[in-house]
Amino acid sequence: TELWQQVPLEPPDNIFELTAAYKVDPFAKKVNLGVGAYRDDDNKPWVLPVVRKATARLLNDDTLDHEYLPILGLPEYTTAAAKLILGSESPAISEGRAVSVQTISGTGANHLGALFLSRFYGFNGPAKVYLSNPTWVNHHAIFRNVGIEPVDYAYYDPKTIGLDFTGFLDALRKAPDRSVFLLHACAHNPTGVDPTPKQWDAIGDVILEKKLFAFFDCAYQGFASGDMDLDAWAVRRFVDRGVPLLVCQSFAKNAGLYGERVGALHVVLSDKKTADWARSQLSVLQRSEIGNPPSHGARLVSLILNDPELFTEWKRDIETMAGRIIDMRKELYQLLTEVYKTPGKWDHILNQIGMFSFTGLNGEQCRAMVEWAHIYMAGNGRISMAGLNSHSVEYVAESLDKVVR
Ligand code: PLP
Repeated sequence: TELWQQVPLEPPDNIFELTAAYKVDPFAKKVNLGVGAYRDDDNKPWVLPVVRKATARLLNDDTLDHEYLPILGLPEYTTAAAKLILGSESPAISEGRAVSVQTISGTGANHLGALFLSRFYGFNGPAKVYLSNPTWVNHHAIFRNVGIEPVDYAYYDPKTIGLDFTGFLDALRKAPDRSVFLLHACAHNPTGVDPTPKQWDAIGDVILEKKLFAFFDCAYQGFASGDMDLDAWAVRRFVDRGVPLLVCQSFAKNAGLYGERVGALHVVLSDKKTADWARSQLSVLQRSEIGNPPSHGARLVSLILNDPELFTEWKRDIETMAGRIIDMRKELYQLLTEVYKTPGKWDHILNQIGMFSFTGLNGEQCRAMVEWAHIYMAGNGRISMAGLNSHSVEYVAESLDKVVR
């Protein structure tokens, strides 16, 4: 026992703690705006109808077995996943210079991408990654785990509750040449603030000029606009412009497959030979990390991506989820501005994108929401729009109004 006495106690994760407190709260009108998972209008997890259909097909397929998948994953899955994010006509795919690896959801893709960089990227000085301030908290730990030091870049401006575009460009310009920048492909977590296409192009200009590397994290394709292609715009634009990049892809949110851990890492290289060499090294890394990736979720997503009928149905399901979230934004905005006439500007509720919204509430106001109104939200002011529904939105608006007055 003495052997482990020097292990320090780590405080529990805030969001998980929040969910635990929500669960035991007996208050009837309690609301959980902390979770990063989609909920339907009755606050229930939603199994996508297309996933039910695909699951039934897998169950009835007696040619399937439980053999190992190839190290780099189910080929039908990784090929289709690459087309989904890079575009079916992507030159990177047709020229054989995209390497795709099946990963343990988006987290695994971020990890493998970071590990690959830590081994093979020609860092200009100490290994660093530039992360948006703020970002998904796990980004810090994922890069530190592989010996890459996170550095913040300006992203969110609390004064405008929007993008600090000048600060962002400035950080790109001031970073040493060949620095690695982590970019959220769409639906930025936690702020819900994305650059516009014009701003993406200006960001791309500096990235090209300074030979920076774009580490795209794409955990919400389809969740931003409801349209898979529109949400892949920035990634595809950067590929077209010849920006050196990789993309981490997750099917947790857009297919509701959170627990199945279906993801992929796509590294885009300059030519086929470099891609073949990179693929060989990614195989070595993958083998020692997870061995062979899991088959069930990859088979499900592969069926959905490769069957035109299921694919169409999936896009409809995504529209359902994105549409409900957008409706909640409109309703909350309307209640605050027209019904309660809450002081302050609330346009950001409408304009922010994806599952999350930064309300602009300060720490004290957030605490009041939790302790006084039983509305569970993160201390940084982030709320999950998916936690809102037609039954709770009025109570949330009314409480927000009281808390900010
Ligand atoms: N990246 C971002 C920005 C996220 O918000 C998340 C999930 O919350 C992930 C990656 C990874 O999620 P998962 O590993 O469940 O795919």
